[in-house]
Formats: sequence, C-alpha cells, structure tokens
Amino acid sequence: MDDSTGSQNKPKYKRIVLKLSGEVLRNTEDGEPIDARTLKAICEEVKKVYDIGVQVGLVIGGGNIFRGLSGSEMKGVDRTTGDYMGMLATVINGLALMDCLEKLGVTVRLQSAIPMDKLAEPFIVRRATRHLERGRVVIFAGGTGNPYFSTDTTAALRASEIGADMLMKATKVDGIYNKDPAKYDDAVRYDHVPYIDALRERLQVMDSTAFSLCMENNLPILVFSMKEPGAIYRAVMGAPIGTLVD
Ligand code: UDP
Repeated sequence: MDDSTGSQNKPKYKRIVLKLSGEVLRNTEDGEPIDARTLKAICEEVKKVYDIGVQVGLVIGGGNIFRGLSGSEMKGVDRTTGDYMGMLATVINGLALMDCLEKLGVTVRLQSAIPMDKLAEPFIVRRATRHLERGRVVIFAGGTGNPYFSTDTTAALRASEIGADMLMKATKVDGIYNKDPAKYDDAVRYDHVPYIDALRERLQVMDSTAFSLCMENNLPILVFSMKEPGAIYRAVMGAPIGTLVD
C-alpha cells in the first residue's frame, strides 16, 4: 500500500473520469500507434484503482492515429471529415483498452458517441452511471460525436454528465508549468491553478472549451504524468501530485 497519503486505503475520489491522450499508447521507439506493452502498463494502472472500488470512466483520444486539424492541413481532407476520422480513431483505441482491461479481469463497457452497434453500446448517460455503480469501467469513445471538438472537451462533458468527483488528465508532463519544462530548466510547476487563470493564460494542457465546461460545473481537474508508476492510484487517494485546477 502507498503510505504517502496517510489514509487507510480509502480513495478520496469515488468516481473519476480519466482522460488519456491517444499518444500515451504509442510506441516511442518504432512509432507504432498502439504499443502492447504500454497499453498493458496503462491498464494495470487503471486496474489498481478499479480494485479498490473507484468508479472509473475512461475517455481516450485518437491523436496517435488521426487528428482532424492536422489531417486537413497535411492530407487535404475536409476538416469535418478529418474530425470524424479522428473520432473513429478513438473507437480503435477504445477497443484496444477494452480488450486489454478485460484480459486483466476488469469488467468493461465501451460506449460510443457515434452509433456503432456491432462494436460498442451507444452513449447513454443513465446506462453509463448504472455500469459504474455495478463496478464496470466505462470507456467513452467516439469523442462528443461532433466535429470541431476535442477529447478533452469530451472528458469534461462526460465527467459533468456522470457527476464525477474529478477529471484526471494524464499527460507526459507531471503538471502545469509557468513555461515549457522541456525547453526551460527554470520552469516552475504549479501545485494549484484557478480555472480563470487556466482560461486567461490559455494553458496548453487543455483547450478552453474543456476548461470552461469544468469551471461552469465546478469539476476539479488534476493534471499529472502517467510516466510515474502508481500515479493514478496516488491521485485518487488524494496524494499531492500534479497540478490541481479548480
Ligand atoms: N474529435 C472530434 N470531436 C470530438 C472529439 C474528437 O472531432 O468530440 C476528433 C478531432 O479531429 C481530434 C481527434 O478526434 O483531433 C482526436 O481527438 P484528440 O485530438 O482530442 O485526441 P488526443 O490528442 O487526446 O489523442
């Protein structure tokens, strides 16, 4: 047990939405969009909080496969078409996550915002909350189902709809910094950022639609790094990691 929280294995947050970028699934060596070992490691992290009874909704991005905006810039595809391609990419990632979680003994339901009845349930908020109450992880794929949005906004939306205690945004960086820590050695990490500053300063970590949705619904956001093993567990236990936006 992680004793850094001082708690008795009792999670601070009972229902969370975890937003994973599609990029977290990529094999950084050969560039393959979905790396089996990385996928398994992420699913094991999710299982750790599932095993202690935390209700987990997962929103997965699709950027490892296709992004509407870059697709339209580089490949000449219409923005709207590109966005639908991006949303389909999230379903591919969602299927990979579902398969891997199930192999670890986690009960999972995949819901898609774009009807796809051979592969996934349609997104129905009441059904999603029922699954969570019955101890099933719910993967929200297909984004919001609308072009011109992102999966960060999807995560803010789904977290608000299901009444999550916290939106957890797992990234490659361990929080929000005053400047890019990859470029500047003297970059300082914030422990806490008010929503309004996140919006005003246009922090790169999430888009403004996602931030404002969270602000309007009083949904705290925790930005932290997935690289650190046990990070999701520590986050749900209320350990001081990452940057809290609230
Ligand atoms: N997308 C969309 N509407 C949504 C969510 C996603 O059109 O509600 C498209 C958009 O083209 C986006 C792509 O799906 O670029 C992949 O999502 P995102 O870029 O958020 O994935 P991530 O960066 O988290 O991997």
